Amino acid sequence: ARLANQIAAGEVVERPASVVKELVENSLDAGADRIEVDIERGGAKLLRIRDNGTGIAKDELTLALSRHATSKVSTLEDLEQILSLGFRGEALASIGSVSRLVLTSRPAEQAEAWQAMAEGRDMAVKVQPASHPQGTTVEVSDLFFNTPARRKFLRTEKTEFAHIDEVVRRIALSRFEVSLSLKHNGKPVRQYRAAKLPSQQDKRLAAVCGPAFIGSALRLDSEHHGLRLWGWLSPADAARSQADLQYTYVNGRMMRDKLLNHAIRQAYGERLAPDTSPAFVLYLELDPGQVDVNVHPAKHEVRFHQARLVHDFIYQVLVQALEDAPA
Ligand code: ADP
Ligand code: MG
Repeated sequence: ARLANQIAAGEVVERPASVVKELVENSLDAGADRIEVDIERGGAKLLRIRDNGTGIAKDELTLALSRHATSKVSTLEDLEQILSLGFRGEALASIGSVSRLVLTSRPAEQAEAWQAMAEGRDMAVKVQPASHPQGTTVEVSDLFFNTPARRKFLRTEKTEFAHIDEVVRRIALSRFEVSLSLKHNGKPVRQYRAAKLPSQQDKRLAAVCGPAFIGSALRLDSEHHGLRLWGWLSPADAARSQADLQYTYVNGRMMRDKLLNHAIRQAYGERLAPDTSPAFVLYLELDPGQVDVNVHPAKHEVRFHQARLVHDFIYQVLVQALEDAPA
């Protein structure tokens, strides 16, 4: 199981930003609506994610850290299956196998908080009393301390932090109702306030994508045949290239999909001013039965059962929005 943990870690834990992604997703799964991300040294020294979610009961702390050590992976076939499917249910165990991990939590119905620790390979888990409000904090220190080859692959503090910043941005765009903050080396870097009302969404978007984007963006929201597309896109003549500002979500999950990109590119077509790329934040919503999501954590691929329909819908909605844009 140790071997499995470390192989799993190689897949899930590519760099500090992947740890942040897994841990923030856990916080979201736990129903948190306030999540704080504290980073030191680009995440090489410390990644701390604190939430106000449901928490983990004392008796389940150890289990949460040792998922597939206890059950799932016992044979090579299991391992192969995990390698091809990705590692759902294994994130904490994987991260714990390549770091020093402290998990502190208090569910609402528990009077006091408890803490469990894991350190690298031996996954020796100790449980002790702690102090914590309702919710969970995961602290990951010295990432890859026991896998020097991997540690060497870490880039500069600035680069690793930029990846973390991007992960937080993507999540901020996928969950408007959740407040997210990001600190680096003790300094507040991002503060994305919750936008629970549609009228607050522009503000949130401005915080994540910058005031320039929201200042000129076209707003759209269309529904047809059970498909809904909403969001923001830059007008075709946007003066500045914002190639890095391209976000597409399918049923709330960030995706980079060929079909989506093709439909978007085609809609801009010749309208696009030379030397510019469109900027967009788009949300496609459809019956979950109409789409398969590749579960591999590193991929963001989808397959639409009615690909043509989806493509044409997106194309038409965007063309309409671009045509309606004030000249
Ligand atoms: P998965 O999320 O796929 O179940 P993880 O290894 O990421 O696997 O987490 C293991 C388990 O630990 C989760 O299923 C959940 O029960 C618990 N857990 C992890 N993080 C949190 C959190 N922030 N709040 C509440 N429970 C959590
Ligand atoms: Mg998880």
